[in-house]
Amino acid sequence: MRYIEPHAHMVSRVTDDYERMALAGCQAICEPAFWAGFDRSSPAGFYDYFCQLTEHEPRRAAKFGLKHFSWLCINPKESEDVKFAEEVIALIPQFLDRPNVLGIGEIGLNKNSRNELKVLEMHVDLAARHQKLILVHTPHLEDKLKGTQLIIDVLKNDRRIQPERVIIDHVEEHTVDHVLNAGFWAGMTLYPETKCTPARAVDMLEMYGQERLWLNSACDWGASDPLAVPKAALEMKKRGHSATVIDRVVFENPAKFLSQSPNFKI
Ligand SMILES: [Zn+2]
Repeated sequence: MRYIEPHAHMVSRVTDDYERMALAGCQAICEPAFWAGFDRSSPAGFYDYFCQLTEHEPRRAAKFGLKHFSWLCINPKESEDVKFAEEVIALIPQFLDRPNVLGIGEIGLNKNSRNELKVLEMHVDLAARHQKLILVHTPHLEDKLKGTQLIIDVLKNDRRIQPERVIIDHVEEHTVDHVLNAGFWAGMTLYPETKCTPARAVDMLEMYGQERLWLNSACDWGASDPLAVPKAALEMKKRGHSATVIDRVVFENPAKFLSQSPNFKI
C-alpha cells in the first residue's frame, strides 16, 4: 500500500516514527506549523522553527526515503497578541520560496476570539498575495461548528481565494458537509480519542463519497498515532472497500490537492 501523510508534526516525533511510516508505505509527509505545547517567547523562536521545518526535518525524513513538505504560519493558539503575530507573519515571506514549502497553515481559530479572527485574515491575505495554498485548523469540540462557519465566512469574503485551493482540517460529522458544500477540501483527523477514530472517518467516507476528502494523523507531542492513516486504510479493507477506492483516499486525493503547489513533487 502507498499513502501520503498530509498532516503530521514530525518535529515532535522520534526518528523511529519516520522508519515505521516508511515501512507502512508512506511516500510523503506534510508538516504544518503548530503550537509547540508552550508559547514561544519571541518572533525569533518562530524564525528558528521555520528553519527547522524547511531545513532540518526534510533531511531527517530523507534518511528513510521520505519526502517532507511544510506549511508556515503562527498557529491560532499563539494569535491572541496581534502585534506579536504581525511580527511573526512578517518573517514568513523569506521562507515561502524554499523548495519544500506548500503554503500557509495550519491557520484558523482556537477560541473563536476577535484577535484570532484578525490574525486569520492576515494569513489569508498573505496566502492570496503570494498565491499559496491554505491549510486550516478548526477548533475543538463545542467551538468547532461556530469556528468552522466563521472561517468559511473569512475565506468567502476574500474574493482572491479559490475554495479548491483550501483544505479545512479536523472536520467531524457535524461540520464536514458545511466544508464540502462551500467548495473546500475537507480533512479528517484520526486521533485515538478526540476528533475522529478510523471507524468514524470511514463512516463519513461512506456517507459523503471520496471527493475532496483526505485522512491524516495530525500526530504531534500529545496522544496521537503516526500510523493512523494506514490503520484507517485497513479499516476500509475490512469493510470491503476496493484497493482502488482505498488508494484514492489515502494517496490520490492528497496528491491531487497538494500538486496544486509546484513544490509538491513525489
Ligand atoms: Zn496539526
